[in-house]
Amino acid sequence: MVTSRELGKTHLPLWAAGFVVLICVAILVLSGWREWEARNSELRNAEIDVANLAQSLVQHADDTFELADTILVGLVHRLELDGMGSDTIGKLQTYLPTRKSSDRIRGIFVYDETGRWLATTEHVDFSKFNNSDREYFQHHRSSPDRGTLIGRPVRSRAGGQWIITASRRVNHPDGSFAGVALLTIDVAYFVKFYERFDFGPNGSTSLLNNDGIMLARSRDESGAFVGRDLSKAPLFREWESRPAAAVYYFKSPLDDVQRLSYYQRSSRYPLMVLATKSQDDVLAPWRRAAVVRMTVVIGLVLLIAVIGFYLVRQLAQRQRMAQALVAKEAHFRLLAEQSSDMVTRIGLDNRLIYVSPSCARIIGWSPDELLGTSAVAGVHPEDMERVEQAIVALKNGEAEEARFVYRQRHRDKGEIWAESALHVTRASDSGEIDGVVAVVRDMTEQKDLQDKLASLAATDGLTGLANRRAFDERLAEEWARARRDGTQLSLLLIDVDHFKTFNDHYGHLAGDGCLRALGRILSTHARRPADLAARYGGEEFAVLLPSTGADGCVEVGEEIRNALRDLAMLHAQNLPSRLVTASVGGATSVPSQTTADCSALVAAADRALYAAKDGGRDRLVMSGQVVPWPAKTA
Ligand code: GH3
Ligand code: MG
Ligand code: MG
Repeated sequence: MVTSRELGKTHLPLWAAGFVVLICVAILVLSGWREWEARNSELRNAEIDVANLAQSLVQHADDTFELADTILVGLVHRLELDGMGSDTIGKLQTYLPTRKSSDRIRGIFVYDETGRWLATTEHVDFSKFNNSDREYFQHHRSSPDRGTLIGRPVRSRAGGQWIITASRRVNHPDGSFAGVALLTIDVAYFVKFYERFDFGPNGSTSLLNNDGIMLARSRDESGAFVGRDLSKAPLFREWESRPAAAVYYFKSPLDDVQRLSYYQRSSRYPLMVLATKSQDDVLAPWRRAAVVRMTVVIGLVLLIAVIGFYLVRQLAQRQRMAQALVAKEAHFRLLAEQSSDMVTRIGLDNRLIYVSPSCARIIGWSPDELLGTSAVAGVHPEDMERVEQAIVALKNGEAEEARFVYRQRHRDKGEIWAESALHVTRASDSGEIDGVVAVVRDMTEQKDLQDKLASLAATDGLTGLANRRAFDERLAEEWARARRDGTQLSLLLIDVDHFKTFNDHYGHLAGDGCLRALGRILSTHARRPADLAARYGGEEFAVLLPSTGADGCVEVGEEIRNALRDLAMLHAQNLPSRLVTASVGGATSVPSQTTADCSALVAAADRALYAAKDGGRDRLVMSGQVVPWPAKTA
């Protein structure tokens, strides 16, 4: 079962990646939002700036036109009172220049009802000038309105420059049209005045009338924009419904610059001032700082993303490794626990770190009882050194694996034969040896079988004595030992007399019984542990007597011969005793004193046996009595 916690663990890298992404996105969003706020705050400040500016400039325009208005009102009043006779006009001509006290006023003019110039502050010969074609003149002539008309900018007839006109109708006493009083203001006056203010490199201030005609524009010394009709511009659409003053964003049709502006309409005259700043100019310092700030933020986010990505990858890798390790461990346990062999893990301190459940079957103790105990506890003392040496060699790195059979204590059965296969284990990170895995198998049955086979292979089936093969091996061993130790070695060869006829007479089965009886005699008389009685072949037997001299050999041989006689088995054809008898040939050697090998001893005994047969049977002959022993003759 996979629990939700484990599920959470497997999804940990995903969560971590999500967290990193969240942090990066949050930083970017917050920074972006902050920059947007900063930008808007810049724009708001600029809006306040242009609003203040527009309000001041409208005030200025109002003042200017109020001055013009005052002069015109006075002039018209006077003309209407005094009439437009030549003396009045003459006085007027001298009076007018005194009214033009301020540099705001460019000129003052009086026209009669035909548009002819009557008086002016300009120093020109105006006898031929007629202004009846001017728009303001036609307006006043046709309209009884007595208010001041602020007209479109026109080129001055007197000086040729751009001027703004303010005019009033003059009436005859009967109310009919008598002429026009006009006052002009140089456009350049406003342009010059606007120079004092800072609108930024691409900002501007415009003075417009309510019909959307440009009266003056900052920096427009040449008058390129003067008189332009902007009534089609979006600002003048729905003009009536617009408030008297407002912030207004637009793209200027004059220079295509995106502007933020504030327009303020005059409350007294059909005028408005539009103060603008270029949005780019306003935002430039913010933009420069924002680029630096956002570069730093994006750099930081990239750094977090890169480090985060690296850490997440590490995390995923570690988790995969841990999972692989857990799976490996599980496989190991499954194998170990399903195995009929006892699987153990031995630490460097020789203690058992892990024991598989089969230990209960193999050595009788449960895993819990064995954990933490010594791995070699229960090893038979005689095998202990071998086992310990093998483990030390493994731990020292002298061998990767080892296999040996030893005796091991079993809790209930006493002792078992065990085979252990050991292999070193290494730490996965450092590669250093960190212990040994041992697989232990109960070998008792195999060992018994092996021992049985070995003894069967060495035993003669009929008599239970050693067989010829075992005899030959022992002879070679005892020969070598005697040579090493400088001791004597004796051999008896015993052959039943006339056994062929015994078989013929009493039958083969009786012959076998006879051979078994002789076998028992031999095993009885080969008394010493090192003595070996063997069936040499057919009805011929051999007795090997280590550390035995010729006397001892004779003694044992005679005993055997006598014991056979004493059995008194009938053998009618064996004269003269008519009992089963045997001839014995003996030989004794000191192997350390000869270069010959063990076959020489057998040959000597054989010769002695033949001598015994030749000598009449039922007797013992020592080889020395037949031919001199080569060592003795030398
Ligand atoms: P000698 O006195 O000269 O030894 O005469 P012998 O008849 O004993 O002669 P030999 O040693 O040549 O004869 C061996 C006989 O032993 C031949 C065989 O019938 C008999 N024999 C050999 N092995 C066995 C055996 O396992 N069982 C029985 N019953 N007889 C055997
Ligand atoms: Mg024989
Ligand atoms: Mg014989």
